[in-house]
Amino acid sequence: MFLCPNRDGFLKTYTTTGKNGLPLTYHRCPHCRGFWLSGFAANFLMDTDLESAHPVHHPTTRRASDIRFTPLCPECKAPLHQTHGDNIPAHVTPFRCTAGHGYFFPAGELSKFKTAQQAKIAYHKLWNIPLPSVASILLASLAVLLVSITAMVTAIRQKQSMESQAQSVFKSQTAFPSPQGTVLFVTTTNSPSTATLFVPSWNNYHIVMDTTDGLTHTTTVSTIPPGTYRYFFTITINGKTVQTEMFEFSAR
Ligand SMILES: [Zn+2]
Ligand SMILES: [Zn+2]
Repeated sequence: MFLCPNRDGFLKTYTTTGKNGLPLTYHRCPHCRGFWLSGFAANFLMDTDLESAHPVHHPTTRRASDIRFTPLCPECKAPLHQTHGDNIPAHVTPFRCTAGHGYFFPAGELSKFKTAQQAKIAYHKLWNIPLPSVASILLASLAVLLVSITAMVTAIRQKQSMESQAQSVFKSQTAFPSPQGTVLFVTTTNSPSTATLFVPSWNNYHIVMDTTDGLTHTTTVSTIPPGTYRYFFTITINGKTVQTEMFEFSAR
């Protein structure tokens, strides 16, 4: 059990299904109504999971402006720091553990962050402007994302085991661009196999992806010139190779 960063009670743990069907975990203090969660969970939580499910108005609610003592990390007890930056709108006040344990959003702040995130995505879609990068609307840096990858891999695997027997070897894939110009590719397969990433328009780039169990395959590609790229994977199983459909990602 984790103590709330405001030290007014123990955090309650919730699990939910976020965007892209990702199972997510977050924690909330039943007293001050603050949220404690990873940047990854903050990014992928559905808006409906937030204060709509957990009303903010309560006699013990403590807003960001009511916090008199520095909040402490529930995991390492270090003081949390207020975070600012491109990824966080000026009117939102999250606190962050500098050791990377997570983010604390006082009552009302997480839904403000989600609203701003949605507005930014909608604005770029409306005007057909490419997003600067997915990372600019996300809290997590690639480093945080890589830390979260273990959790995500576990989540994807749980989803696999819940679903009915697969039709094909290829299961799912995602590309995560970072502001530093690197892209993290994750692909999952239904049976142990070898996956290779191909980016044909980038000098026929291809690389065999890393895997420990043959089911989840990852690779990070760095220093990609800005542009939109199409890519695909080949999956080799028992000496037979199949090719996936084409996918697309944008690097800026
Ligand atoms: Zn609290
Ligand atoms: Zn910490």
